Amino acid sequence: MSTHSKLMVGNWKMNGNLAANASLISDVLAGMSSVGCRTAVCVPSVYLSQLQTLLKGSAIDLGAQDVSAQLSGAFTGEISASMLQDFAVRYCIVGHSERRQYHNETDALVATKAQRALAAGITPIVCVGESLAEREAGQTEAVVKRQLAAVIHANGHCISEIVVAYEPVWAIGTGLTASPEQAQQVHAVLRAQLQAASAHADRVSILYGGSMNATNAAELLAQPDVDGGLIGGAALKAPDFLSMLKTASR
Ligand code: PEP
Repeated sequence: MSTHSKLMVGNWKMNGNLAANASLISDVLAGMSSVGCRTAVCVPSVYLSQLQTLLKGSAIDLGAQDVSAQLSGAFTGEISASMLQDFAVRYCIVGHSERRQYHNETDALVATKAQRALAAGITPIVCVGESLAEREAGQTEAVVKRQLAAVIHANGHCISEIVVAYEPVWAIGTGLTASPEQAQQVHAVLRAQLQAASAHADRVSILYGGSMNATNAAELLAQPDVDGGLIGGAALKAPDFLSMLKTASR
């Protein structure tokens, strides 16, 4: 179990527009008085400025969905960690399975991205998770340990400053959720790996992600090593997101 309160992070992915973002955030902010968990939203980069303004002084932190592994220069389309810093970004997702899958991001690249975020004072939310084929082949533990090991290797003693998100690929956006027992089993493996790498591993929040919603959040969050959630689809509906934030605040 992490020493911190639960952390609930909405991943908006490539959704939203100026009007919809303003409306969603206004509805979520209206319900925040009864929320006691740490909360963040990871928004498309073009909306960081908008959200920085809308979230100013609120209990919701701002997050990005990716960061370049490069520092600056001729990398068309990339966004550096220092650029994210300009918008008071607190968290940055790295290694989301959609980036590993559709943009061929390797474990080494993800580790460098985590390093860039940490150097800029931004907490990387490092995503790990197995595909359905890997689970069925009994490789779940080996896959998530390999993915996390790359980040541990590149980041040494800073490892206690990261957030980890276990996101089984087969559960993302599919409506399939890992059972609480399946999630706990993998979270315990990740916790042990972090403990072996750092004396301060109890500072690391390990989030579960994959079709978490207002109905299944309570039993997932009740697991001893589930320190919060990374939420896609359900974070786009204010009542659902708020309900999950309240569950995480208990
Ligand atoms: C995610 O994008 O990180 C995610 C978990 O998505 P969903 O909740 O929609 O499965």
